[in-house]
Amino acid sequence: SKWTGVAVRKTFFEFFEQRGHTIVPSSSVVPHNDPTLLFTNAGMNQFKPIFLGTIASTDDISKLKRAVDTQKCIRAGGKHNDLDDVGKDSYHHTFFEMLGNWSFGDYFKKEAIEWSWELLTKVYGLDPGRLYVTYFEGDSKMGLEPDLEAKELWASVGVPEDHILPGNMKDNFWEMGDQGPCGPCSEVHYDKVGGGRNAAHLVNQDDPLVVEVWNNVFMQYDRQKDKSLKSLPAKHIDTGMGFERLVSALQDKSSNYATDIFTPLFDKIQEVTGARPYTDKYGKDDTDGIDTAYRVIADHIRLLTFSISDGAVPNNEGRGYVVRRVLRRGSRYARKYFNAEIGSFFSKILPALVEQMGEQFPEIVKKQQDVREILDEEEEAFARTLDRGERQFEKYAAQAVSNGSKKLSGADVWRLYDTFGFPEDLTKLMAEERGLTMDEGEIAVAREKAREASKAVKESVQTFAKLNVHQLAELKDKLQVPVPNDEPKF
Ligand code: ATP
Ligand code: MG
Ligand code: MG
Ligand code: MG
Repeated sequence: SKWTGVAVRKTFFEFFEQRGHTIVPSSSVVPHNDPTLLFTNAGMNQFKPIFLGTIASTDDISKLKRAVDTQKCIRAGGKHNDLDDVGKDSYHHTFFEMLGNWSFGDYFKKEAIEWSWELLTKVYGLDPGRLYVTYFEGDSKMGLEPDLEAKELWASVGVPEDHILPGNMKDNFWEMGDQGPCGPCSEVHYDKVGGGRNAAHLVNQDDPLVVEVWNNVFMQYDRQKDKSLKSLPAKHIDTGMGFERLVSALQDKSSNYATDIFTPLFDKIQEVTGARPYTDKYGKDDTDGIDTAYRVIADHIRLLTFSISDGAVPNNEGRGYVVRRVLRRGSRYARKYFNAEIGSFFSKILPALVEQMGEQFPEIVKKQQDVREILDEEEEAFARTLDRGERQFEKYAAQAVSNGSKKLSGADVWRLYDTFGFPEDLTKLMAEERGLTMDEGEIAVAREKAREASKAVKESVQTFAKLNVHQLAELKDKLQVPVPNDEPKF
């Protein structure tokens, strides 16, 4: 295919540049100045102050009317969280690129819809018969009208009526988070099977062969703390196209992972581990679990490299805890499925990623050495407890089976986290592999108990501070209270 990843990106930029858009760089994937946001989760994040009308006139982007870019995005926590799908499906990543074009109070629905259709069908040459579009059907509870304008615009560019579908609040009203800019949206979906079938009933049904590729958001509201919608000072266009999904469609692959975006990473993983080659099998078809592990590791090295390069370091809180969880999850896959030695595994995959993406994102070239060191340090720390933790997990799992409950107790899940550094999502994965369940409520109780204990310890420390040396010496031997870690905050 002439549509290499690089060519797809370049063509997107050129198309919108020819239509008066300025190419802007991706913003950091770590939103250092937005505490409401864990990671950058969409292209519009860096333009939020423009939408809200709060941008300073001295800001570089304040004069922009039209922009185009590819944005580094992470969806592994917060309102948009796809971590649990990664490895299992063919089109969600924790880290991905979002191609986008913007109008800031300039053009609106007409141009946005006409250009997206022209780009997809005329420039990229996708078969119009395989494309489906959606529009917002309205929501009477929120007092929102159906977006018949978008519906008519799609018809006017030539989309047949049975390929134009209504969608609800969940699919066709885009929101950045619980608060902030939002608006009705209109999306493009691609049928990977084609052959004249009508796939309208499969749109938005999580069917891996009928995939959402592009979202056109008509920004016109600001969601308030009290949940009400306030109109923005002006109307804007905000679009987001999944780069990996587009490339997969253009290379006529059934999965994002079968494209030249992931192949170099799989090759490297194979070289490092000596495993069998990647075959793009899913679920039960992936009988030895190796393909799933390939996907998890290739996905996770991308999140790790980009988040660390942009300044998120693994720790026990917020962003840092996402990075830590992802590294631990990936390490465990590497060990279980590739028999890899944990301690410097991810850093061996790193050069392939830097080689592949360093030209578009020079920060990962510049920060390569730091990333390597942080990865190794963090992995080594986990390697020390991974063994013991896995043995402990086996013990708990055997108990759950023998007592007939087939459920890991909340206390066990907590202990795996607190003592062995197993994030809950990792424990959940391991439990799933064994056909065991976990109970969120029970885990919350265990967490709460630990918090109480930790509070009690802190209070006694304050009391001890008032005692004299002799009183302290007397107490010392009696004090054997373990100090639990603080609960990670999200
Ligand atoms: P989906 O319904 O498939 O989860 P979405 O509706 O959550 O996607 P949007 O918030 O509309 O996605 O983001 C715009 C575009 O970004 C999507 O149309 C899709 O192409 C892409 N995208 C979203 N999430 C992911 C992801 N986890 N991995 C890869 N691409 C993604
Ligand atoms: Mg989603
Ligand atoms: Mg969607
Ligand atoms: Mg969407």
